[in-house]
Amino acid sequence: MLNLVLFGPPGAGKGTQSKKLIEKYDLIHLSTGDLLRGEIAQGTDLGLEAKKLMDDGKLVPDAVVIGMISNKLDANKEAKGFIFDGFPRTVAQAEALDQLLESKQSAISGMTALEVNDDELERRLLERGKESGRPDDANPEVIRKRIKEYNDKTAPVAGFYQNQNKFKNINGVGSVEDIFGAIIDVIEEYSK
Ligand code: ADP
Repeated sequence: MLNLVLFGPPGAGKGTQSKKLIEKYDLIHLSTGDLLRGEIAQGTDLGLEAKKLMDDGKLVPDAVVIGMISNKLDANKEAKGFIFDGFPRTVAQAEALDQLLESKQSAISGMTALEVNDDELERRLLERGKESGRPDDANPEVIRKRIKEYNDKTAPVAGFYQNQNKFKNINGVGSVEDIFGAIIDVIEEYSK
């Protein structure tokens, strides 16, 4: 089973690369951001609660996103593997994910981190905001808050996987195809 964590700050290109990876490897894409936006679109209680935090650039509580991921793992028992995109975003989420996978006799194969500088991230997110209509992409202040949340709470997740020798960094600035190629090289390493 290939279970890849695609890591990187908001706007690093995780969604774009995930789409290409699921096609090539026939994996299930689990994006907590997409799942949360689905809850918002359906107007669930969870969605209403999450929306306030998301629009303010803050993280949603660990228990909420862990519960969503657990449900999705259960609903896709026959999957060849998963791409985790935007999850885990805290060390507590990473620990919970290890436990969830262990209880299913599975494990994370590895993490690939896309490295992009802050100026480029802000530029990409503002650009995306023009088309995505996402409220959290429209406001420079919210974008900077999300990048700060990433640096404070999410960046340490890299160390969690580094300690398990499951971490590889790649340059997230360049053509979509070149970056895709670099991710494939990393996956081939993890699949050995
Ligand atoms: P991006 O990575 O481009 O910022 P996402 O779609 O992954 O976008 O996430 C959007 C927002 O959803 C985040 O700013 C956060 O509020 C919330 N969110 C998504 N995933 C998580 C997570 N694993 N833990 C906590 N909050 C999350």
